[in-house]
Amino acid sequence: MGLVVPRDAEQAQRQSKGVVMQKQSVTVIGLGPMGHAMATTFLDNGHPVTVWNRTRSRADDLVTKGAVLADDPAGALAASEIVVLSLTDYDAMYAILGSATAALAGKTLVNLSSDTPDKAREAATWAAGHGAQYLTGGVQASPDGIGKEESFTFYSGPKSVFESSREVLEVLTKTDYRGEDPGLAALYYQLQLGVFWTTSVAFLHALAVADAHGIKAAELVPYISGTVGTMPDFFGFYSPRIDAGEHPGDVDRLSMGVASVDHVVQTSKDAGVDASLVEAVLAVFERGIAAGHADDSFTSLIETFRKSGS
Ligand code: NDP
Repeated sequence: MGLVVPRDAEQAQRQSKGVVMQKQSVTVIGLGPMGHAMATTFLDNGHPVTVWNRTRSRADDLVTKGAVLADDPAGALAASEIVVLSLTDYDAMYAILGSATAALAGKTLVNLSSDTPDKAREAATWAAGHGAQYLTGGVQASPDGIGKEESFTFYSGPKSVFESSREVLEVLTKTDYRGEDPGLAALYYQLQLGVFWTTSVAFLHALAVADAHGIKAAELVPYISGTVGTMPDFFGFYSPRIDAGEHPGDVDRLSMGVASVDHVVQTSKDAGVDASLVEAVLAVFERGIAAGHADDSFTSLIETFRKSGS
């Protein structure tokens, strides 16, 4: 059995012999705040970077830093084996690559754009039809988190493709591989975003009600952050019960919950603040009561969601 030389040691040996290892080239298509941060991070880490963006001027500073601005999408694809897409949605991908499908063969498309799991699965099939390998990604960071230790991205798609791209992708963030189904990374991403956006809008609603009483955000935020900080324990307590399909009313009962949410709605209305967000929550609680869950925990609302969706 031969000696296995760790990658870092191998690199150090080559460098000491004067062999400079060229880092893998990467193409980034889409230079909104996120794609721009990704291209910057690849450049900062010594990767040759080719970029393309519909609005070409967004590449100006990247070109100054050493990126190559491709003339067209086909040129961007031709430049690298790994092609990172950071676009508003998947329709933007088809709008850009639809005219360049002949250049897709042999490429690895890593789509870090937001969209639905079904769109991700369709995209994987579309890419395979043009001879490309395909990974879905869901970035769990803001642009200023790209290249930082604490950030990570969900990935899914063929394991072998993920493993062969991993070293390059980990220049951007840590990776969390969810499985072979290309829809999985999009699913995990959208599940986080559902919590993120509803919580963020609830935050703004609370600030509007506070402001109507002359209380500024700076005064309220420590208390809201305290409440949000209790949520992991709250989720941890209830999730085994939810997985077991058990919703006993030993800690909380829906009849209490519906009264409580109604008080939140009335407080909003009394302050002259749009109550539509909390009224939507109240409507869910009322459907749970109508379904006979008054003596069960609020967690029984998961049954209401399931029935409403089917
Ligand atoms: P933006 O929407 O600001 O930028 C998107 C990019 O898509 C731009 O390069 C834009 O080109 C391009 N684009 C959109 N529509 C088309 C089209 N029809 N044809 C060609 N190009 C198009 O998004 P971000 O950079 O902020 O984010 C990129 C992705 O990352 C999104 O899917 C987002 O959900 C996700 N994400 C973003 C985070 C953030 O905090 N920003 C955090 C986590 C994920 P042009 O410059 O010409 O308009």
